[in-house]
Amino acid sequence: AITIDGLSKRFGRMRALTDISLEIQSGEMVALIGASGSGKSTLIRHMAGLECGGGTSGSIAIHGEEMQKDGKLSRNARVLRREIGVVFQQFNLVTRLPVLTNVLIGFLGQISQLRGTFGLFSAEEKQAAMRALARVGIADTARQRASTLSGGQKQRAAIARALVQGARLMLADEPIASLDPASSKRVLEILSGLNKEDGLTVVVALHQVEYARRYCPRAIALKDGQIVYDGPSSALDNTFLKELYGEASEELI
Ligand code: ATP
Ligand code: MG
Repeated sequence: AITIDGLSKRFGRMRALTDISLEIQSGEMVALIGASGSGKSTLIRHMAGLECGGGTSGSIAIHGEEMQKDGKLSRNARVLRREIGVVFQQFNLVTRLPVLTNVLIGFLGQISQLRGTFGLFSAEEKQAAMRALARVGIADTARQRASTLSGGQKQRAAIARALVQGARLMLADEPIASLDPASSKRVLEILSGLNKEDGLTVVVALHQVEYARRYCPRAIALKDGQIVYDGPSSALDNTFLKELYGEASEELI
């Protein structure tokens, strides 16, 4: 579960988030929607423990354990972060390394720890990484360089890496923004499968409301850094969405 209480974030004079409070239960699949600049990425970075410091106030807890309060990370934030897998729009793979090695990186806390430990992954770890690749349907690409993968395959490798990391909480920031419809569907089906079959909690920022409706029972809408809707995605109505997206609403609803 993720519990956010009174979270606000300023970048200088700019208020990116204002008094966000929400609770996401374990096993939920939640869409984060809102126009460009509404604060989706900023909120996801906070949930992931990747954003803190000056300008942040309020608190975030993972499974009831405080991860940060008023911009200060708790002592066990690093441990809590291992529970959290993050998938970005820009894949974040080491493209010159094989796909399997990219997934094995999930076993390490940080990429910087990779130095020196290279080639030291155990047979069990390699098997687990192969299982994760099979889970996302790209086991056959294990030996290829990550640079040779399609966008959709890269995103699936990033999900496999998060699985190997032991993530029970998957945060995805517009994971399908640069993918074609078929690949988008595939990536969302994988996230949905991990949610339904393996009980992972999934929070996914999505541009298109259609996908939010199809895959996420609950939607949270942000506007100018504030929550303006939190409820069933099936109950989002078009008048509200037109106002939420303004000029961009034609293509997104
Ligand atoms: P998009 O759909 O375009 O990805 P978003 O909903 O993810 O948008 P954010 O990236 O969270 O929006 O940005 C929210 C606001 O905070 C924006 O006005 C943005 O310019 C500002 N912002 C985000 N990160 C920073 C930063 N590091 N420094 C200054 N301003 C920032
Ligand atoms: Mg964003």
